[in-house]
Formats: sequence, structure tokens, C-alpha cells
Amino acid sequence: MSWETIIGLEIHAQLSTESKIFCGCATRFGDEPNANTCPTCLGLPGALPVLNRRAVELGARAALALGLQINQQSIFARKNYFYPDLPKGYQISQYDQPFSANGELEIMTAERDAAGHPVEWKPKKIRITRLHLEEDAGKNVHEGLPDVDRYSYIDLNRAGVPLAEIVTEPDFRTSWEAYDYVNHVRRALQWVGASEADMEKGNLRCEANVSVRRVGDEAFGTKVELKNLNSVRFMQRAIEFEVARHIQVLESGGRLAQETRLWDDRVGETRVMRSKEEAHDYRYFPEPDLPPLVVSQEFIDDARRALPELPEQRIKRFAESYGLSFADASQLVSERSLADYYEATAKASGNPRGAANWIRTELLRELEASGKTAAESPVPAEELGALIRLIDEEKISGKQAKDVLVEMFQTGKRALAIIEEQGLVQVSDTGEIDALIDEVIAANPDQVANYRGGKEALLGFFVGQVIKASRGKANPKIVNERLRAKLLG
Ligand SMILES: [Zn+2]
Repeated sequence: MSWETIIGLEIHAQLSTESKIFCGCATRFGDEPNANTCPTCLGLPGALPVLNRRAVELGARAALALGLQINQQSIFARKNYFYPDLPKGYQISQYDQPFSANGELEIMTAERDAAGHPVEWKPKKIRITRLHLEEDAGKNVHEGLPDVDRYSYIDLNRAGVPLAEIVTEPDFRTSWEAYDYVNHVRRALQWVGASEADMEKGNLRCEANVSVRRVGDEAFGTKVELKNLNSVRFMQRAIEFEVARHIQVLESGGRLAQETRLWDDRVGETRVMRSKEEAHDYRYFPEPDLPPLVVSQEFIDDARRALPELPEQRIKRFAESYGLSFADASQLVSERSLADYYEATAKASGNPRGAANWIRTELLRELEASGKTAAESPVPAEELGALIRLIDEEKISGKQAKDVLVEMFQTGKRALAIIEEQGLVQVSDTGEIDALIDEVIAANPDQVANYRGGKEALLGFFVGQVIKASRGKANPKIVNERLRAKLLG
């Protein structure tokens, strides 16, 4: 009997506004606790919420980038529950009339082999039920203060920060599909500037609903909600763990409880947070202090027109117009600044494939080592393009160029300046190279005899000697051609 896994995901993404969704307080990360608060986000009596227009604009960008349809009218609702970090006793969210709904998103997904490498990328359609707008809660602090054994602290800087909650249908069948989807959403939100989508800062959080059923069954099995998934990798591992646990319980004749579980990555297990009996009844009702949110068709059209070319379109265009493989194009489109950088380098060098290779290997290694993004690269795209052009024109060798790039990265100098300073110009003059070859041949009579006697592998030795004699400046291609001719002649 085989089993089928059913997964649905919820993502909370912080929208990149300067101020909170219903008041003017700053959303800055890392400020003194409770520095960014006011009567509205503290939930003081009589304080009224006012909707932040920017949050709506960014929500619209996010919705459109994920293939959702924006509703011209949506309603804010109170979600009631009691928790210390929720000063009003309710969260302003959206319920039966959300900001956007009915999305369909095509993602690329692949199963992974034992070493964790993708096996074969395939497209998969994921239905997104809704994307709605809401405010974040505050944070309880149980660590880092001297008397936390007796007190708990509350930091309300985050209370009222705008969120987009993105809910899918239960369309995922493996943990890797869920993994690829979350990465897709993260990149899309960053790409259009809707959210920083940084899980480490907590401005993107995800929860997974997981169940299993026997293949062929129509009804869903008992589902478990997974929380505390602080990275995409944790989420993937937590799902794997849960699926195995469900199957084991069911195959041994046991029953599963509908519950919320937390992932503990140190032990690699989930544990119960609360059972269904403890689940909240949120008693949603429309927020009386906010009118319905109405957006015009013009607003939606403008938001759509303002969207940049999305990552998937860009991968396709890179593959088609620059002759890159899907994998190479995807790597270059992993971030918008990198994709822009690549495109500028391709243009400046006139060699799109060379530009892709140089960026994927040499430049990314330097960026990674220095913790910089492509946008922060000390080597501008035009300069990398110029360097590639110098190689293609055989002014310097590829090997020399690698050292030059490292130097450019460290000093910010231009390629030509470094080449002149170090006298790196590649020698392609056949007269000069022939003279060196003659010297090398004269100095190694035994090897010459052996080569002529059929030991062709010795060619490498001669090439090495000639390049050494030129102090690394001889053009290896020409050295090869001339050597062959001379040794045989
Ligand atoms: Zn406030």
C-alpha cells in the first residue's frame, strides 16, 4: 500500500513599507523595544486605524507577481484572540472578502537525489487561494534580560507592521515542491520590491498543513499544522519528518490527532504545541473602524503596468536570446540585481555566454567571499565586460584575466589600468613566439626526439616551457599551433 502526501502552505510576508499599516510608526528592524509605538498600535481606547496606502500598493504588486486576481472591494475584519503580544485583543485582518484571490502560479520544481541535488526540473501549477492584508502582532521576550526567570517582556515594535498572508490550496505532493514554491514566492516578492522576504529577520514566515492518504482515496487524512519553520530547509525537513510519522502511526493501526506542532531542528523532530480542542475560535467580524477597501480598475492596471519583467520570463528570455541553459539562466536570475548585472555585462562584452561563465564562476565566488550582492560589486558590469572583451581579442589570456579580476575586485581599479601596471599584455606576435620556441627546442633535444618518435603527450611539456620562457605572456593558442608545426617540421 502506498501513500500520498498532501501539503498546503501559508506564508506571512512583511510588506516593505516605512510605516505601519494602520498608524505612522516606523517599521524599522532592530530598534529599542517599544520605541516605535503610538496609541493606535498599542491598542489604547479611542485610537483609530488609518490604512497605509503604500501597504495596499505593495500588496497589489505581490498579488499580481503571484498570479492572483485583485478584488476591487475587500473588507477588514477583526480576528479575536487573547495573547499578551496582541494589545487590542484582536488582530485586524481580512476574512471572507480578501484583497486578492484565485491565483494560479507555475513554479519549477525537482525531486532531489541523496546528495540533495535536483534531479529533473519540471513545471507545476499551484493554486493560491488568497492573498490578504493584515497587521502583525508584537513579540513576547523570554530571553536576554536579567530577570526573565520572574518576568516576561513584550516588545510591540512589530505590532501593526503590514503583512501579506498568502494561502495555497493543498496542491503540494512532496516536501521539495513546498520548498521550491516558498523559494519561488520569496524571490518574486523581493523581485517586485513588495517584501525583503528575509526569513532570518522574520519578515517571511511559513506554516505547513500536512496530511497523508492512501493512493486512490478521495478524502483527506487528518492534518497537522507545522509552525516554527525558521528556514525553507527546516520546513522541508519538518514535512519529511511528519510524513514519515503519519505513515508509521497509520500503518501500525494508530490514529492521528489534529494538532499544531513545532519543529525543533536541534533534535530533528516535531512536538505538539496545541491540540484541536485548544484551537481558537476567532469570532471574525467586519472591522467597524475601517471602511471597505475599494481599489479602482485603474489602480490595478497601473500596478500591473509597473511590474518589472518577472524572473520566469527573464530566465526564458536569457535562454532564448543568449543561448544559456535553463540551469545557467536560473542561477543568473536568482536575484534581480544579479540578472541586471549579467545583462549589462553581456552587452558590454558582446559575448553573452562568456559573460555568463565569468559571472557564474569567478565573480560569484568573489561576491560570496566578501558577502556582497551583485549590486554592491566593486567591479561594475561594464568593466567586467571590458575584461572579457580583452580576452576575446586575445590581448590577455584567460588565466591572466582571472588574476586581473581578483585585483579589480580588491582595488576597484579598471582592467586596463591593472594590465598596463603589471605589463600583462599577452604576446600574440608569431615572430616573438617562434624565437622562444626555437630556444626551447634547442635546449631539449631528447624530448624533441621522443616527441618526433611518437610521444605526443610531450606537447604539453613544450607549451609549458614556452609560456614559462615568455613569463606567462605568450598566447597559448598560438604557442600550440606554432609548436606543432615546428616540432613536426
Ligand atoms: Zn503606532
